[in-house]
Amino acid sequence: MMMLTRHVSRRLAAYVDGELAPRNAQHVEFHMGRCARCRTDYEHVRFGMSIVEHLPSIEAPEAIWTSIEAALRDNRSRTASMVRSWRMAFVAAAIVAVVALVSWRLTQQRGVRWEVAPLNGSPAVGTRHITGIGQVGAGEWIETDSASRATVNVGGIGSVEIAPNTRVRVVTMRADEHRLALARGEIQARISAPPRLFFVDTAAGTAIDLGCEYTLNTDEDGFGLLSVTKGWVSFQSSGLESLVPAGASCPTRPSVGPGIPFFEDAPERLKQALAAFGFEKGGNDALDVILAQSRARDTLTLWHLLSRVNAGDRARVYDRMAALTPVPAGVSREQALKLDRETLRRWREELAWTW
Ligand SMILES: [Zn+2]
Repeated sequence: MMMLTRHVSRRLAAYVDGELAPRNAQHVEFHMGRCARCRTDYEHVRFGMSIVEHLPSIEAPEAIWTSIEAALRDNRSRTASMVRSWRMAFVAAAIVAVVALVSWRLTQQRGVRWEVAPLNGSPAVGTRHITGIGQVGAGEWIETDSASRATVNVGGIGSVEIAPNTRVRVVTMRADEHRLALARGEIQARISAPPRLFFVDTAAGTAIDLGCEYTLNTDEDGFGLLSVTKGWVSFQSSGLESLVPAGASCPTRPSVGPGIPFFEDAPERLKQALAAFGFEKGGNDALDVILAQSRARDTLTLWHLLSRVNAGDRARVYDRMAALTPVPAGVSREQALKLDRETLRRWREELAWTW
């Protein structure tokens, strides 16, 4: 497992409660996308808290109210932390029950079906055309024509809307892996689950949900576009990864790995140059424009370019990034230009605050 400097475990309870500022919440999500330990903690906290919410309300021991009243007389913030630690004790007890429940559910996955419903027209599920709520099982195709759309309930972790003229297959429906294969067309996914539980394969690679909402379209060859509206998505192929945050898009294309992500609100000239650079090998002219047009936020694009440009251009990309935002401690020019993994990862963690 990768070493990560700042774990987010202590912020998870506040995160689950929706008490973090949006930027801090985004950081927690980003970190969890990279850190298995914090993902596990998150799952425990989330499941624990959801059980607490469903517990019947019980009479709290007299002593607790006495101490809360005493604390109230002292100060309000202290009360809040006492209530929280009392609640966390319930969470810890609930986790034991949840572990048993989850292992039971994992053994009950055979014969699982997901609900699928038409939004327009009568989409096909397998060989049947549905007009009302139907079900789809692993291995089955869902296909829409130009006049139909459908929505699929993905095993309780979210929903996927299937646009017209789309062919998509359910590959895996397990509690720890929900996987679709998008042969062509467009889907819109809204997933509310720990990162890395929902996957969509296309001919160009795999979109991995890191807790998010996104639209993904592709043709049969794998040329398409991933656009993220909430959270983060990782797109992986050929051993390369592009990380796409909310507000950004990333082209997909077969064989050559994922495209370079860019913010939708980036300058038009940057986006045009990036398209030329990525697909037509626009070379130096395109790179000149990209570097000149980049704003601080477009370090998203520049960070991904670092490892995709040739060694000769890498120093130019580095210098532009360093001019746009301060280079954090622990990131040296020399190591960055060598594409040292730990250096690039640390830099990205800091840059992600501005993305
Ligand atoms: Zn962590």
